[in-house]
Amino acid sequence: MFIDHQPTSLDVNFRLWRFPVRVHPLFWLSLALIGLPWFDKSLLAGLLWVACGFVSMLWHELGHALAMRRYGSPARIQLIAFGGLAIPSYPSPSPVRRFLIAAAGPAAGFLLLGIVWGSKQLAAWSDAHPYLALVYFMLTMVNLFWTLINLLPVWPLDGGQMLREALVIRRARTPDYTALRVSIIVALGLVALGVIARFFPPDVAARVFEHWPWWLAWAIPGPVMIVFLLMMAYQNYEMMKRLRRPRLYVG
Ligand SMILES: [Zn+2]
Repeated sequence: MFIDHQPTSLDVNFRLWRFPVRVHPLFWLSLALIGLPWFDKSLLAGLLWVACGFVSMLWHELGHALAMRRYGSPARIQLIAFGGLAIPSYPSPSPVRRFLIAAAGPAAGFLLLGIVWGSKQLAAWSDAHPYLALVYFMLTMVNLFWTLINLLPVWPLDGGQMLREALVIRRARTPDYTALRVSIIVALGLVALGVIARFFPPDVAARVFEHWPWWLAWAIPGPVMIVFLLMMAYQNYEMMKRLRRPRLYVG
């Protein structure tokens, strides 16, 4: 998102369902970085983490790519530092289709979560070996939490793109400007919650989160996510400045 991802000699290139896939070397590095605690446990646990992250991210992008193909455009997939991209050859002119294309990634994530969970209920495969139990844990955590985070209404996450398209569909006067403004407010609000949760005295944090619903606990960001949200807020602020301010009065 924030780094130049030109092709390198260390790229891994292959095709999946006729979609060209390119994996940038920084993708592996960023996954390993997020999974450092697993490497601390054992090399195999770390490698399993990288494998689970790779499969999950590829699956997510495949969701976007299949929706793009469904709506008439070839697509290619790139896995890059801290994320992935599905890039259509011809972006859809229809906001409803663009909304569904953005939603297809998180939908694929929830589908994989259902497959992993359902197959465990049916076959109890995760009981066969401690490392299979670890794979089950990693796949469920990744596909639950990364998918939920992706749905946050913060540009350029999928949720931010869905918000933008929803504003276009609702014929909002300044969809780009409004989507960016909401993104900045949500990102900075979450950063504030994360900072309170991590760095404030426990009694202050307890008072702030007293009425915070338990099912929204995933939205309280950790240190890595705080950095990302700040970067997104800054990037969105720069983009918003470049847009013309909405005029209050027309005519
Ligand atoms: Zn996505």
